[in-house]
Amino acid sequence: MFGFGKSKVQKKNVLKIGLIGLGKIAVDQHVPSIRSNPNLELVAGASPGSRPEGIKAYNTLAEMLKAHPEIEAVAVCTPPQVRLKVAREVIEAGRHVFLEKPPAATIGEAELIRDLAAAKGVSALASWHSRYAPAVEATRKWMGERPIKSVHIVWKENVRQWHPGQTWIFEAGGMGVFDPGINSLSILTRIVRDTVLVKKADLHIPSNCDAPIQVEMDMQTDKGMAIRADYDFLQTGVQTWSIFVESEAGEKLTLSMGGTELEIDGKTIMKEKEAEYSGLYAHFHDLVKSGTSDVDLSPLRIVADAFMVGKRIEAPSYIE
Ligand code: NAP
Repeated sequence: MFGFGKSKVQKKNVLKIGLIGLGKIAVDQHVPSIRSNPNLELVAGASPGSRPEGIKAYNTLAEMLKAHPEIEAVAVCTPPQVRLKVAREVIEAGRHVFLEKPPAATIGEAELIRDLAAAKGVSALASWHSRYAPAVEATRKWMGERPIKSVHIVWKENVRQWHPGQTWIFEAGGMGVFDPGINSLSILTRIVRDTVLVKKADLHIPSNCDAPIQVEMDMQTDKGMAIRADYDFLQTGVQTWSIFVESEAGEKLTLSMGGTELEIDGKTIMKEKEAEYSGLYAHFHDLVKSGTSDVDLSPLRIVADAFMVGKRIEAPSYIE
């Protein structure tokens, strides 16, 4: 009798999830993270064309929800340009919504999604997976304990290697090199406690694209601390996802490999494997169970500000 009661309670805790947009990130991260969490159940997915093995898939969200009315929450893993349309349908259907990063193509759209979810009484998560990288919290703590002189972000990767066939990235609303770059800004806005303002941005946009392929950006906190960011989508050879921090006293911290490795004054403090999505999904489960939302738009606001004050510089056309 006791055992029966216990399993009933455990089952009640399980959140039934559907995925929409069965592309790279859904398959690489969402599917295994949901399946490895006993509090979550992956029910089905929807995508116009992709049919990954082992997932019950439908053409549209409406078809998926009709076939599986038990789905309580939907993770939206589409490109950002269609995020609002899809998220609105999810919310109007009364389901909780997990938004891949970036939460939408514009601040206005993201705010609307947040407000629609609040009005409907469902939970919304604007997910920032890089904030769950293992060394981010230790970096935040270290920075909170001393005056900081400067922060330098270097995020350089080969778009041909990491984003093959993803033409949406260079279309309007796709954000170009800010698609991975916004991950660094999600870490930045976690480890720096003050407001970050964009002072200057050079946006190198290929003549046949709508979004930048390289960006150099100068930022500053409201208290005057200098922040520099260098983004490059054409990096061959060594790939770099690092943040270099220097304290007023000259101590040096390096957060590298997207936040999985931490070095302070040349000494390795942490070197771990990436496990970001398990933390992210545990957070989403908590939000749903506590009836709350988490929609922090600060990384998206920095990208928007870069587009507002940035100088457009024509770059050679991009051919994949
Ligand atoms: P992707 O491989 O191009 O996958 C996007 C998927 O969305 C495609 O499978 C596509 O469907 C589907 N889709 C497009 N329009 C749709 C619509 N109207 N309704 C439903 N599904 C639609 O891109 P991705 O790399 O997975 O990236 C998706 C999002 O995740 C982006 O916002 C990206 O920033 C974020 N993200 C990506 C990574 C990464 O490493 N790739 C990491 C973290 C976050 P079909 O294939 O069926 O046509």
